[in-house]
Amino acid sequence: MQDTLNPAMMDPFGRAVTYLRVSVTDRCDFRCTYCMAENMTFLPKKDLLTLEELERLCAVFVDKGVRKIRLTGGEPLVRKNIMHLVRQVGRHVEAGRMDELTLTTNGSQLARFASELYDCGVRRINVSIDTLDPDKFRKITRWGELDKVLEGVRAAQAAGLKIKINAVALKDFNDTEIPDMLKWAHGEGMDMTVIETMPMGEIDEDRTDRYLPLSQLRADLERRFTLEDIPFKTGGPARYVKIRETGGRLGFITPMTHNFCESCNRVRLTCTGTLYMCLGQDDAADLRGPLRASEGNDLLSAAIDEAITRKPKGHDFIIDRTTRQPAVARHMSVTGG
Ligand code: SAM
Ligand code: SF4
Repeated sequence: MQDTLNPAMMDPFGRAVTYLRVSVTDRCDFRCTYCMAENMTFLPKKDLLTLEELERLCAVFVDKGVRKIRLTGGEPLVRKNIMHLVRQVGRHVEAGRMDELTLTTNGSQLARFASELYDCGVRRINVSIDTLDPDKFRKITRWGELDKVLEGVRAAQAAGLKIKINAVALKDFNDTEIPDMLKWAHGEGMDMTVIETMPMGEIDEDRTDRYLPLSQLRADLERRFTLEDIPFKTGGPARYVKIRETGGRLGFITPMTHNFCESCNRVRLTCTGTLYMCLGQDDAADLRGPLRASEGNDLLSAAIDEAITRKPKGHDFIIDRTTRQPAVARHMSVTGG
């Protein structure tokens, strides 16, 4: 729903920017092997925007026509006092200035925060689970406990939150397990989305070894299930099918095999106040300077307008054996997935 009082920002390609993703921290209590190296150097805490500053930035974006905000990271629920920000941003939903506040989480802290999230106006969350095998889960996250995450999922369901399970499709890791995960998620009344691994940041392994084109996964699934393309949309880049046998929805996020940039409606803010107009490009705008330069929001608003004029047409992700460097040096946890 677009607000006539706050018309949407338009980029040079005529796309309305109505969706802001905020990486509230680059830190995480897991180290998923496709996302991070084991020994990560995180941002010094002194460089972070305060929660009040993040709240002010979100409010300015809402004034400029943003209707949906997703908090992500790193792991958003490990940032100290994060619920303060959730509550403040949630007030825009309550007041009808925004359609949705949501969150992407690894679920490790969800049991603790689920009911408070609901209380703050959050209604849907994404929980990332790449396998339902506890040993494999420990391996892919380097030390995560699947039980704790599943406890979080149950708490979120009990609190009334709708959940979508996100899984990165990884060759020779979870490809054969996806059908069972699908049955589990749909059996629990949750949608599921599979994601292609993207070349972001140096990690300790070669991404080529794990890269699984979703066109291949879809072909495998079609041997076991009946997939019906549906026009369902959640404001993100996933294209959905309905699985006839389970009655549930499965989304495909295919940045590599099917570029979805033509319908991109979002920009991404980091916890240091850098605005990335595209997940897969290095160009960025500093919002911390204008934020701190004045108590009014005019400078900030002008900096955002200028940044939007630089939103690129799309990303140039490639994963192959000749392209050794990641497309962008920063990890997904910096810009926020
Ligand atoms: N920690 C939270 C989580 O895992 O849900 C939020 C941040 S995480 C960066 C957001 C999503 O990005 C997760 O679903 C994760 O699996 C995915 N992700 C991380 N690195 C990725 C990569 N290189 N390619 C594709 N997806 C990635
Ligand atoms: Fe942490 Fe999420 Fe990255 Fe895993 S995918 S290391 S949980 S930020």
